[in-house]
Amino acid sequence: GLSEKLNATFKRLRGKGRLTENDVKEAMREVRLALLEADVSFKVVKEFVSHVTERATGADVLDSLTPAQQVIKIVNEEMTALMGSTNSKISMANSGPTVVMMVGLQGAGKTTNGAKLAGLMRRQFGKRPLLAACDVYRPAAIEQLKVVGGQLDIPVFELGQGDPVNIAEEAIRHARDHGNDMVLLDTAGRLHVDAELMDELKRMKAAVHPNEILLVVDAMTGQDAVNAASAFDEALGIDGVVLTKLDGDARGGAALSIRATTGKPIKFVGTGEKLDMIELFHPDRMASRILGMGDMLSFIEKAEQNYDEKQAKKLEEKLRKNRFTLQDYYDQLLQLRGMGDLSQLAGMMPGAMGKQLQGATIDEKALSRTEAIILSMTPLERENPQILGASRKKRIAAGCGLQVVDVNRLLKQFDMMQQLTRQLSHGRMGGGMGGKMR
Ligand code: GDP
Ligand code: MG
Repeated sequence: GLSEKLNATFKRLRGKGRLTENDVKEAMREVRLALLEADVSFKVVKEFVSHVTERATGADVLDSLTPAQQVIKIVNEEMTALMGSTNSKISMANSGPTVVMMVGLQGAGKTTNGAKLAGLMRRQFGKRPLLAACDVYRPAAIEQLKVVGGQLDIPVFELGQGDPVNIAEEAIRHARDHGNDMVLLDTAGRLHVDAELMDELKRMKAAVHPNEILLVVDAMTGQDAVNAASAFDEALGIDGVVLTKLDGDARGGAALSIRATTGKPIKFVGTGEKLDMIELFHPDRMASRILGMGDMLSFIEKAEQNYDEKQAKKLEEKLRKNRFTLQDYYDQLLQLRGMGDLSQLAGMMPGAMGKQLQGATIDEKALSRTEAIILSMTPLERENPQILGASRKKRIAAGCGLQVVDVNRLLKQFDMMQQLTRQLSHGRMGGGMGGKMR
């Protein structure tokens, strides 16, 4: 992930200080790649990187963060701001039903996400929505809307294969008469943007004056989604975007590009085929995802859950008393293993634990080696590593199928822990092992 790469970039720069122009430039090289990999358009990446470089250069590195974390923090903040720092809403009609036009290319997810949105509006805002079948070109489209509407128990208005503009008008009349305070117009799509489709949508817009025109785009289509957004916005004028299929592999760089090129906000995201899988857009979550750190937040949460406070307190006590043994070291590593990617975790934890892990035991392989070595020691040796002379080391190495150098490496890491212990007993706990890990 990006945070690992940045940690590597900043290996030599530990602790406090200021970010120099060169540091930031180096980090931005990684950020740039991460963004391009996430399908953010080249032009947007270029502007973004130059803006963030300017802001980050000379910035203080907070005590509780590593330089890598500091850069990620700034990048994250700027990206969040660029995508809109508040959650977007639908602008509701002052009187009569709120009319929402769902537009977009074929297969983008208009029909399903129109229904999902209707469900969300009812759930979260107590709306009584009506779905209107204005995609008349394929009979299957009307049937599909009736099926999804039926599953959510949301009424569907249809007039068969009539004129879509007329159907939209009739649907709104129907809504007024039947107490529906919101109408979602499911419109037709095409494989590509074409004039005929735009004309129909423009006529519909002129006839019904929608409160919102929401463009539905498929996140998996990357740059095509951005091009579609520009085309629809120029021809029709859109108010916002529904970015669908974010449950797939797409990192969602389209969100950043769409916002940057059209200036129109992403308002909702589709996160699965099921009809409740739609969410309000959260720029901060999206930023993490685009940066390839989508797991970071859940990762921290997981770490916090897994990490037993009591055990931490005990460990801290031992550290303070300089009685931290290899057995404790082993127990601690085992506990960490349950959390997945250790190096990522290390980079995110300020204080004792993070420092210990950084550059020390990082990958699973090394962890297994460490485990094997400690398991080859007798309990006496684990409690008293100072007794480990050449012959004991040889026996241990043979016992776990490794070399004496491997045993020495582990002991060196352990020694780092001892140094830390000394710092701790002088009261320099930093973030603290018993404290919160953020
Ligand atoms: P339309 O042609 O724009 O009306 O697109 P549809 O609503 O018919 O959706 C096309 C396909 O995408 C359908 O199979 C949907 O189930 C699927 N789909 C829509 N939104 C999502 C989503 O957020 N995640 C996933 N995995 N599939 C989605
Ligand atoms: Mg459809």
